[in-house]
Amino acid sequence: MGRIFLVWLLRTCGCIALLSACAWAEAADWIWSARYVITMDAERRVIEHGAVAIRADSIVAAGSKSEIDRRYQPKQRLDRPDALIAPGLINTHTHAPMVLLRGIADDLRLQEWLEKYIFPAEARNVTPEFVRWGTRLACLEMLLSGTTTFTDMYYFEDVIAETAKECGMRGVLGETIIGFPSPDAKTPADSLRLTETFMQRFRGDPLITMAPAPHAIFTNSDETLKQARALADRYSAPLLIHLSETKRENDETLAKRGRTPTAALDALGVLSGRTVAAHAVWVDDADLNILRERRVGVAHCPSSNMKLASGAAPVAKMLTLNIAIGLGTDGPAGSNNDLNLFEEMDLASKLQKLVTSDPQALPARQALEMATIGGARALGLDKQTGSLEPGKRADLITVRLDRPNAVPLYDVYSQMVYALKGSDVQDVMVNGRIVVRDAQPLTIDQNQVLAKAREFGRKVAESLKAK
Ligand SMILES: [Zn+2]
Repeated sequence: MGRIFLVWLLRTCGCIALLSACAWAEAADWIWSARYVITMDAERRVIEHGAVAIRADSIVAAGSKSEIDRRYQPKQRLDRPDALIAPGLINTHTHAPMVLLRGIADDLRLQEWLEKYIFPAEARNVTPEFVRWGTRLACLEMLLSGTTTFTDMYYFEDVIAETAKECGMRGVLGETIIGFPSPDAKTPADSLRLTETFMQRFRGDPLITMAPAPHAIFTNSDETLKQARALADRYSAPLLIHLSETKRENDETLAKRGRTPTAALDALGVLSGRTVAAHAVWVDDADLNILRERRVGVAHCPSSNMKLASGAAPVAKMLTLNIAIGLGTDGPAGSNNDLNLFEEMDLASKLQKLVTSDPQALPARQALEMATIGGARALGLDKQTGSLEPGKRADLITVRLDRPNAVPLYDVYSQMVYALKGSDVQDVMVNGRIVVRDAQPLTIDQNQVLAKAREFGRKVAESLKAK
C-alpha cells in the first residue's frame, strides 16, 4: 500500500512539475536559434548556441538556446545549427529605383555620367511605374542579401513607401528636392509641398519614416534648404542630404561662399535638427567638429566613393569623435552598381586601412557596427533597430556557415565582414514578419520582377538612342 501511494505521489508531483514548467513558459510567436547569435547590444555579446525569442513585432529575449527554450513556448521555430543570427543590415544611403539603370554607363567622371546618361535616361523614363518596379527589384536584392532597413533619396517617394511596405522592408524615405524641374515636381516649392503630403500620409507608420531630402547645397537655394529643415522639424523627421562628396563641390562652395559645405549648411541652420549626410568625403577638422556637435549622422559609401574616384572619407577619425556613421551603397545605377552591404562592410574596412597605412584601422567588428547599430544611430532609429535586444523590433537575419567560404571559423566578426557574402543570407525577418525563408523571397514575386526589370531595361536603352 505504502509503495503504491509513493508511486502515485511521484506521478502526481511529476505532472504538477511539468504543468508548472508549461505555465511558466511565456508565449512567443517565434524562436530562432543558431550556432552563433551576434547581438550588437551594448556589451556586444556573441552567444554560442544562441537563440532569439520574438513576440508580435518585437524581440522579447536573446540568450543561450537552452535558456530561451526553457523560458518561451513558441508558435513557430527556425533552428539553424549551421548558421549565425545577426541584426538586419541597414543601408543608410541609396536611390533604390535606379537599379533599373544599373550599369547604364560606367567608368566615367561624375559630371559626364550624369549629363550624358543619367539625366536624359531619367527625364525620358522615370514615372511612378518605373519607380514601383525599380523599388520592387531593389527590395528583392536588398532583402536577399540581408538588408532590412534602407534610406532612400529619389522621386515619387510615396510609391517607394508603398512598395517598401508591400515587400515588408523598413525605410527612411526622402523625397528629393532639387533646384530644377524633376520627374515629379516643376519647382522646389512643389517638391516641398509634395514632401509634406507624403509625411502626413505615412505619419506613425510602423515601417516608414518619410523625410525631406534636399539633394545638396549646390543644387538648392538657401531658402529651399531652410524650408526643408523647418519641414523636417515640424514632423520630427530627419533631413537627408549629400554632403562634400567631391572636391569640386568643396572648391566651388568655398569660392562662392567662403565656407566649406558643412560650415555653410551650419550657418544656414540646416544642421540644427536630425540630419543624415551622405558621403562627407571632403571634410576637415572644423567640419568634423560641426558634425559632432550637431550630431549629424554620416552615411559612408565606400564603393561609390571608390568607383567615382571621389576620395576616402575620414571614417576612422569620425569614429574616434563618436560621430554616428552607417554604411550606404549609394547608386545603384553607376556608382556601385549593387545594393550589397556585405561588400560595403568589407570595402569600408579595407579602404580605411589603405588610406591610413594602418591595418588596425576600422577592424571587422567596427565595420559590422556601422552596418547595424551605427547605421541605426545615424538614422535616429537606434531605439527600434540595429541590435538584437528585448524591446527592439524584430529585424534579424540568418547567414549560412556551411559554405566553403565560411569554414573554418575562428572569429565571427572577421567571418561576417571579410569572408561571408550577401548570397549566404538564408532567412530574413523585418518587424516580426518573415520575408525571406531559405533564400526564397516570401513577399515578392521574383520571376515577375526580373521579367519586368528586363522590359524596362530595353525601354531605357531605346530611349537613349532617340535624340
Ligand atoms: Zn547618392
